Amino acid sequence: MTTIRLHDTKTRRKVEFTPIDPENIRLYVCGPTVYDRAHLGNARPVLVFDLLYRLLREIFGPDHVAYARNFTDVDDKINARAAQTGRPIREITNETILWYHQDMDVLGALRPDHEPRATDYIGQMVAMIERLVLSGHAYAAEGHVMFSVSSHAEYGALSGRAVEDMIAGARVEVAPYKRDPMDFVLWKPSRDDEPGWDGPVVEGQSVGRGRPGWHIECSAMSYQLFGESFDIHGGGIDLQFPHHENEIAQSACAHPEGDFARIWMHNEMLQVEGKKMSKSLGNFFTVRDLLDRGVPGEVIRLVMLGTHYRKPMDWTEDKRAEAEATLAKWYGILHAHGFTARMVKGLKASGEWCMDKEFLGVLANDLNTPGAIARMHVLAAAKTPAKLVPFAATLELMGLIEDWDALATLAGADAAPAIAPEVDAAVTALLSRRAQARAAKDWAEADRIRDILSAAGVQVTDMGGQASWQPGPDFDETKLGGSA
Ligand code: AMP
Ligand code: ZN
Repeated sequence: MTTIRLHDTKTRRKVEFTPIDPENIRLYVCGPTVYDRAHLGNARPVLVFDLLYRLLREIFGPDHVAYARNFTDVDDKINARAAQTGRPIREITNETILWYHQDMDVLGALRPDHEPRATDYIGQMVAMIERLVLSGHAYAAEGHVMFSVSSHAEYGALSGRAVEDMIAGARVEVAPYKRDPMDFVLWKPSRDDEPGWDGPVVEGQSVGRGRPGWHIECSAMSYQLFGESFDIHGGGIDLQFPHHENEIAQSACAHPEGDFARIWMHNEMLQVEGKKMSKSLGNFFTVRDLLDRGVPGEVIRLVMLGTHYRKPMDWTEDKRAEAEATLAKWYGILHAHGFTARMVKGLKASGEWCMDKEFLGVLANDLNTPGAIARMHVLAAAKTPAKLVPFAATLELMGLIEDWDALATLAGADAAPAIAPEVDAAVTALLSRRAQARAAKDWAEADRIRDILSAAGVQVTDMGGQASWQPGPDFDETKLGGSA
């Protein structure tokens, strides 16, 4: 089995990935706050962790990996958007989730197994907050519940900073309800016009109507879905501090029996002229902007995977053009060698679909996507359909082709004409009669059938004892005649 090595932000080392339970590998990734279209930077973690998910599925089996990515649907930015537009919050979050799915689907990202919405887990958050208060890690003050950072000695381990430096660097908000400037919000009061739920009960009394802080949502949802220990936690590097540091503090204190996440992975930022692409800086464009400009999802995906996830990257016009040319070439090679959905299905059914081991090894080395792409260029130079199978498999694993029926269109060739089922049945019957004739060494009959097929413009690809077919440019089904 291929060994996966991943760079763990917490220990700052590349570690060998050993699943807690190889039959139930659990990956949690922080998802979007849903009030607006995803910008291109938001797509980076989606694509990086989608690839990790695909790699884990390839190595451990698709039924043995569970991937969760949340939707933050309670947040002050959402409230502000609702106030600005006069629209109900639920309408805004539902619409944004729909857009998010549409946009990420086009980028070839598989839907995670779990997509928890924060507002469906308020009860679990309240329960976790109450646990933290009872164990002395949190306190109530003025309708708030605060996490007491000084109660957790390991605070700062993920980001590698001392608490004093954080206070100096982060310009932390000093508020009358905080005992210590670093303490952070688990629960805060809501005004009547803000969304709110019954708050945690502290010393027999509810702290009042309010809403959760941001960090508690991931601790509570990952616990509910995956338990007190799971394998990998991911997100953008901008979340390392404070979001992930605070997630660790909450989870470690509420469930000291567990490890929370064993490995922490962070993608670097997509930048624009050296600055993080973000909504607050206004230097962003959305995934939809690019799609609307005619940039295909596969091209966006290949550009993104062209840079290693732990390096900052820019989106440039040159990279787009290069990715577009590469994909046109790759799709063209497979199309010209007769790859079709039917053929791929046949190869998978007969066990002849095979993955290139070297490619897998490169990718398993901390998701070395530039190395994997270099290997794909080598594989794509193969000259026969059989030798191109490992290349086709890498293309699929990279998420660069979902639907092999689309290959002809992706290759820029005229889409293959739709084949009527009775025509397919007729050709398939001829192919199996040809196989029988060959097996019986009846060469005259085998040749006769070959001539019928060739007169009708049928292109046959024989691979590993199996024949598949596609209509050639001069395909004429009437020439199959009553011969079938
Ligand atoms: P947000 O909706 O801002 O909470 O972000 C959702 C996800 O996108 C998080 O994992 C962020 O780390 C990630 N993210 C935001 N901006 C960028 C960027 N410019 N480059 C890469 N990832 C980003
Ligand atoms: Zn999170």
